[in-house]
Amino acid sequence: MTDLIDDLLAEARKLDQADPLAHHIAEFADAPGVTAYLDGNSLGRPLRDLPEKAAAFIRDDWGTRLIRSWDEQWMALPMRLGDRIGAITLGAAAGQTVVADSTSVLLYKLMRAGVAARPGRDEIVIEAGNFPTDRFIAAGVANETGTTLRWVEPDPILGVTADQVASVVSERTALVVLSHVDYRSGSLAAMPEITAAVRDAGALMLWDLCHSAGVVPMSLDEWGVDMAVGCTYKYLNGGPGSPAFGYLRAEHHGSIVQPIHGWWGAADIFAMGPEYAPVSGIRQLLSGTPPVLSMLAMQGMLDLIELEGITALRVKSITLTEFAIRAYDALLAPLGVRLLSPREASRRGGHVTIGHDSFQEVTTRLWADGVIPDFRFPDGIRLGLSPLSTSHEETLRGVIAVRDALQS
Ligand SMILES: *Cc1c(COP(=O)(O)O)cnc(C)c1O
Repeated sequence: MTDLIDDLLAEARKLDQADPLAHHIAEFADAPGVTAYLDGNSLGRPLRDLPEKAAAFIRDDWGTRLIRSWDEQWMALPMRLGDRIGAITLGAAAGQTVVADSTSVLLYKLMRAGVAARPGRDEIVIEAGNFPTDRFIAAGVANETGTTLRWVEPDPILGVTADQVASVVSERTALVVLSHVDYRSGSLAAMPEITAAVRDAGALMLWDLCHSAGVVPMSLDEWGVDMAVGCTYKYLNGGPGSPAFGYLRAEHHGSIVQPIHGWWGAADIFAMGPEYAPVSGIRQLLSGTPPVLSMLAMQGMLDLIELEGITALRVKSITLTEFAIRAYDALLAPLGVRLLSPREASRRGGHVTIGHDSFQEVTTRLWADGVIPDFRFPDGIRLGLSPLSTSHEETLRGVIAVRDALQS
């Protein structure tokens, strides 16, 4: 067994030495007592220079410029940051992405707007294993609009396929809501093929990008995606509760109108007129004053992703997940641990999920020892490997800790 670990350790060190992104790890803040942080898919780490940037923001942008900063920079920030996220991670041309609200709220706005934009169609297609907030909000929207949820039940490890989607969409489908990367298994959906099948049926496609934005490259414009929503606090390291982003394809501007008619989505924000008239651009997705302070941390991460390119991050992400699976095969499979993620890299996002009946208890022990993955009910540990902040050796430390916890 020690030989096995020695071999894996040698391999991890070799991979880290060959890793062109490895030097960025030191740019993230230290976390004393943490020996393996494997939860960057749930809450990305802060960059080391964030405290100074936050202090400068409070002293200068807020404390000195005061309300003048709204005109000078903050009014435009939701659109400016949206454009950056679009260009750097989504394959979206400017003017179609905005930063606002939370993922849950933007999902509501876009689902509601999507159903309204397809009158006469009475079904929303959604997968049974989707993240709870996506399912709950879809159920609420179905209730409000008199539509029916039509469930797709994909393989829990491999995820939803284009054939499955094609077989359920019809002239009754208003909207299809799916996750690009499944939050549990990490399976990666075939976005171009699925989107094409949905659009062929005359329906609208809404992608949840929470677990893929910032780690899996995509081309929303080229692939014909209608709408998308994603988190910024996962692989975009925006910090706890940082606002979400929403994408609405330019061809729908003016015709798809979101339902929360606040002043920030009005044609003229300061007209203070008697009635709401929506702006036809992407700003229509906004409702009220944006959380400017919560948009600070993600900007440093976007700088890094832009510097290296999302393709380089995907290459490292695949190296990390493949190594995690090799370590799993060697150390955990013999102990009866199941692999709950696809083996084929092209069908997998940035995390690897493993399963064992004792994992709830194992996770508690790992956290106490400074090894931080996350647990997903009923028996899954997710190893979230964020390419700019995670090393192969750190990944191996995590897998070894799981083995030790199982054996003790
Ligand atoms: C993390 C996550 C969310 C979270 O939504 P919030 O509104 O930010 O709480 C939603 N959907 C998916 C798929 C997620 O992974």
